[in-house]
Amino acid sequence: MSDFVMTIGGDSVPAAESFGVINPANGDVFAHAPECTRQQLDAAFDSAAKAQRDWKLDEDVRRQVLLKIADVLMASAEELAPVLTAEQGKPLADATMEVFASAIWCQYFANLETPPQVIQDDDTARVEVVRRPVGVVAAITPWNYPLLLTFWKVAPALLAGNTLVLKPSPYTPLTTLKVSELIRDVAPAGVVNTVSGGDRLGAWMTGHPVPRKISFTGSIETGKLVAQSAAPDLKRVTLELGGNDPAIVLDDADPAQVSKAIFAGAFTNNGQVCSAIKRVYVPEALYGAVLEGLTEQASAIKVGDGSQADSKLGPINNAPQFERVKELVADALAHGARATTGGKAMDRPGYFFEPTILTDISDGTRTVDEEQFGPALPVIPYRDIDDVVERANSTHFGLSGSVWGADGDRAAAVAGRLECGTAWVNTHLALGPSQPFGGVKWSGIGSENGPWGLAEFTEVQAVHRSKDPSGLNASTAGLVS
Ligand code: NAD
Repeated sequence: MSDFVMTIGGDSVPAAESFGVINPANGDVFAHAPECTRQQLDAAFDSAAKAQRDWKLDEDVRRQVLLKIADVLMASAEELAPVLTAEQGKPLADATMEVFASAIWCQYFANLETPPQVIQDDDTARVEVVRRPVGVVAAITPWNYPLLLTFWKVAPALLAGNTLVLKPSPYTPLTTLKVSELIRDVAPAGVVNTVSGGDRLGAWMTGHPVPRKISFTGSIETGKLVAQSAAPDLKRVTLELGGNDPAIVLDDADPAQVSKAIFAGAFTNNGQVCSAIKRVYVPEALYGAVLEGLTEQASAIKVGDGSQADSKLGPINNAPQFERVKELVADALAHGARATTGGKAMDRPGYFFEPTILTDISDGTRTVDEEQFGPALPVIPYRDIDDVVERANSTHFGLSGSVWGADGDRAAAVAGRLECGTAWVNTHLALGPSQPFGGVKWSGIGSENGPWGLAEFTEVQAVHRSKDPSGLNASTAGLVS
C-alpha cells in the first residue's frame, strides 16, 4: 500500500499497486508511491477535460488561484522540503529554495500582463490576435528539480486556461503528489490532476487521445519518443531536453574568480542540471591556474546526506545515473585523463560520487562529448578562439553556454556565436521566470518561462471583425459580380 495518494478530479486516489521510492543518501526504500492504472489515467484526463470547460472562462479567477497556490507553497515549505531531500538527495536548504522558487513562478505568471494585440483598426476592420488555451496538457517531468520544473509548466498552463495531468519521475514522485494534495482546497477539482508511475505511464499519456499538448522535460532519448508519440494526432509539444553546456574562459579572465563561479555553474545540484556547465575550455596561459582553482573548490566542498545541515552536495539521485557517472569517469581515466581530485564513488552507502575534476582530456572522450549529468567536470585547454567556438558548437546539444572574461563586450561577442538557447556572459545558470529558457538542436523544441513560455500553452486566433456592412473585403469582393 502506498503512503502517498494521487489527485484525480479533486479526490485522493490510492492505487492497488505501488512502487518503492529510494532515498539516494542510503539506497533504502523509504516510501511507496501509487502505480497509476490505465483506467485511473483515463479518469484523470476525463476530469481535466471537464474542468477545463469552466476554467478557461475567467482569467481573473485563474490569477487568484495561482496566487493562492503560491501561498500554499510558501506556507508548506517546511513540510515539503524534507520530502524533496529524501527522494531527490539535494541539501535541505536547496530543497527549501526549490519550494520557494516554485511559488515565485506562480506569482510571476499570476501577474503577467497579457495585453490584447490589435493589428488593424480602421474603417474596414478591427483585427485582434487573441490567445486561446490548448485544452488539456500532459506534463511530464524529470528527477533533478521535481517541483520547480513542474511549476514551470503548471503556472503558465493554468494562466492560459488549460487544465493538467502531471506525471513526476518515478524516482521523485512524492513532492509533486504531496503538493497536489495541498492545493486541492485552492484549485477547482480537476484543474490539476497528478498521477504517478513508471516510464510506461508517460508513454500512455503521450499517446492518449485527450491531451492536446505535451509539455515534457527529460532526456533527449525520451524526448524523441514523445515527439513520435504526439505526431499521429498532432499534439503540440514543448520539449526541454538535455544539454552539454560549454564554458569558454577568455585570456583576460581572472582565474581565481572564474574558477569559483564556474565550479558553482557546474556542481550546483551535484551537476544534475540540464544547463549546468559540463565542459570547460581554458586558454593555455590560464589553464594551470583555472585547473588549480577548480580542484581546490571540488576538494573542499562538503558532500553528505542532504538532511544534514553542513552538506553542500548530496548524492546522485538514482542507481542508473550513479552507474553512468562511474562509467563515464572510468572511461575518461582509461583513455588517459587524470582526476586532479575525486575520480571514484565514495566508500559509503548511497549513491555518492567524489566531486571530480578531469584534466589531460579533450573532445572525442565520452565525458566531454556526452551529457554526464553528475559531479565530474572535464577541463580542456585551447589556443585559438575560433577553433574553440567551433568545438563548443560541433555537437547535437544546444541548451546553453557561457563565456568568461574581463572585457564584457568581447565576451558577449563570443557568447553571441554559441549555438544555444541561453548564452551567459560572466555567469552561468542565471535563470528567472521572465527569461525564456529552451534548447536548440537536440536540446529541445520551444521555450519555457516569460511570455514565450506562456505562448506555448496557447493557440493563436485572429479575430477579424469587418466594419463593412456588405461583409465583402478586398480578397473576396472580386468573386461577386
Ligand atoms: P527521462 O527522459 O528518463 O525521464 C523524464 C520523464 O519522462 C520521467 O517522468 C519518465 O518517467 C518519463 N518517461 C520515460 N519514458 C517515457 C516515454 N516513453 N514517454 C513519455 N514519458 C516517458 O529523463 P530523466 O533521467 O528523468 O532526467 C534527466 C534528463 O532530463 C537529462 O538529460 C537532463 O538534461 C534533462 N533535463 C532537461 C531540462 C531542460 O529544461 N532542458 C531540465 C531538467 C532535466
